[in-house]
Amino acid sequence: MENGVIMQYFEWNLPNDGNLWKQLKADASHLHDIGVTAVWIPPAYKADEQQDEGYAIYDLYDLGEFDQKSTIRTKYGTKDELKAMIGELHKYHISVYLDVVLNHKAGGDFTEKFMVVEVDPQNRTEPISEQFEVQGWTGYLFHGRNNKYSDFKWHWYHFSGTGFDDAKRRSGIFQIVGEGKFWSEGVDKENGNYDFLLANDIDLDHPEVVTELNRWGKWVSNELNLDGMRLDAIKHMKDQFIKQFLETIRAERGENFYAVGEYWNGDLETLDNYLESVGNKVNLFDVPLHYNLFQASQVGKEYDLQNILKNTLVEHHPELAVTFVDNHDSQQGSSLESQIEDWFKPLAYGLILLMKDGYPCLFYGDYYGVKGEKSPHTLIIDILLDARRKYAYGEQVNYFDDPSIAGFIRKGDDEHTGSGLVFLMSNDVQGAKVMSLGKERGGEIWYELTGSIKENVVIDKEGNGTFSVNGRNLAVWIKEKAG
Ligand code: CA
Repeated sequence: MENGVIMQYFEWNLPNDGNLWKQLKADASHLHDIGVTAVWIPPAYKADEQQDEGYAIYDLYDLGEFDQKSTIRTKYGTKDELKAMIGELHKYHISVYLDVVLNHKAGGDFTEKFMVVEVDPQNRTEPISEQFEVQGWTGYLFHGRNNKYSDFKWHWYHFSGTGFDDAKRRSGIFQIVGEGKFWSEGVDKENGNYDFLLANDIDLDHPEVVTELNRWGKWVSNELNLDGMRLDAIKHMKDQFIKQFLETIRAERGENFYAVGEYWNGDLETLDNYLESVGNKVNLFDVPLHYNLFQASQVGKEYDLQNILKNTLVEHHPELAVTFVDNHDSQQGSSLESQIEDWFKPLAYGLILLMKDGYPCLFYGDYYGVKGEKSPHTLIIDILLDARRKYAYGEQVNYFDDPSIAGFIRKGDDEHTGSGLVFLMSNDVQGAKVMSLGKERGGEIWYELTGSIKENVVIDKEGNGTFSVNGRNLAVWIKEKAG
C-alpha cells in the first residue's frame, strides 16, 4: 500500500461500554477520507473480566459470542458487531489487523495441583526453592462455549509457569517442572530468560499447544477475514513458534498476510537478531525510535536532532519498521510509560508521516484523545496525513546537519502531480535552512502548509530555497499550485 498508515484504534482508558466496534464501523468512511489504510484493533476475545482491555485473555474462540465470565460481549462489543465493523472497513479498503495474545492465559476455570520451583524474578534461570506442589488456576473448560469451534481443554501441562499459588494465596514466578518442562529458548534475555510475563505462561514447546494455536490462527483469520495481525509480547515467546505460526497462517491466507510484532526493547541489536532468527517474516514496532522521540521531547533544546534517527529500526531495516509515536503501553499511567510530551508530538508525527521509510502507526489517543478528553493534536495530524497522501513522494534528501533544526526534502515524483515537500523541525528557537530542491524548480513559489509561517519562499535559479521553521515547532513546505 503506497503511503499506507496504520491506526491503532484504542487507548488504555476507553470506557467499558461495549461500543468500540460500533464506533469504529461508523468511523470507517472518515478514516478512509483522512488516509488511514489499516486499523489495528484490540484483542477481541473474552478476557478474565468484561472490563479487561483484552490482554488478560481467557478464551481465544469467544469473540463476544458466548456467556462466559458473566458476559457475552467483551469490553468492545459482540462478535456480530465485530464482524459488521470489519465488513464496513473492508468496503473502504481499510485492512484490519487483530491484536493477538498468545503468550499467556488468565482467568482459569478451576485449580490444578502440580509441581514447580520458584525462580528469582531478576534471573528466572535461578531456582530459589526446592520443588514443591502448588495449586494453580490452570484448568480451562469453556463451559459456555460447549466445544463449539474447538474441544481443546487447557491444563497445567500446557503451561510453563504460573504467577499464583492458590494453596498458599501467594504470588511469585513458579516454573512448572516435569518431563519436557523448561523456559523456552529464543526469548528475550532480560531477567535471565523472559519467557514468563504474567498469569499462566503458555508452553510453546508443547506439541498439543502448537497444533491448537495454529488451528486457532487459521480459524480466526478466516472467521474475521483478517488482513493481518499485531502480535503481542513476542519477546516473551519462542521465536521459532512465531516463525512457524506465520508460515501456517500465510499458507492459509496468502503471503501478503501482514504481521507486526511488539518486541518491546529499545536496543537495535536485539531487534536485529530477532529479525534474523525469524527470517524477517515479521515487521517490528520501532521501539528505539520511540525512545529517541521520548528523549527529544524530554530534553528539549539540549537534544541533538542530528541523532533523532540514530540506532533506530527504520534507519537499519526501513522495510520492516513500523514507526509510531505513542501507544496504549507508553501512554501515561501504563506499564511501559514513556509518553512523548505534547509540544513535541506534532514534530514526531511530521517526521514519521512524511519520511520515506517505515510504515507509520497513528495512535487513537493522539488523534481522538484519552479518557474522553479531546486531543489537542487532531488538526495537525489531519494536515500531516493529507500531506502524506498528496506530497510525500519521491527521493528523500536529509538535512540532519544541525543540533536544533533538522529535516528533509521529498523530491516528488511524476505519478503525483505537484508532489514533493520540505519538512523541518526545531527544538530551540526560530531558524532557517538553505535547501537545494534542484535547478528544475528554479522560480517556483513554495508556502508553508500548517499555517505557522505566512511568507512564501521563492526558489532561486540554482534551485535553492531558504526555508524557515518556528521555535519548538514544525514546518511543512510545498509548492504553490499554479493559477
Ligand atoms: Ca512466554
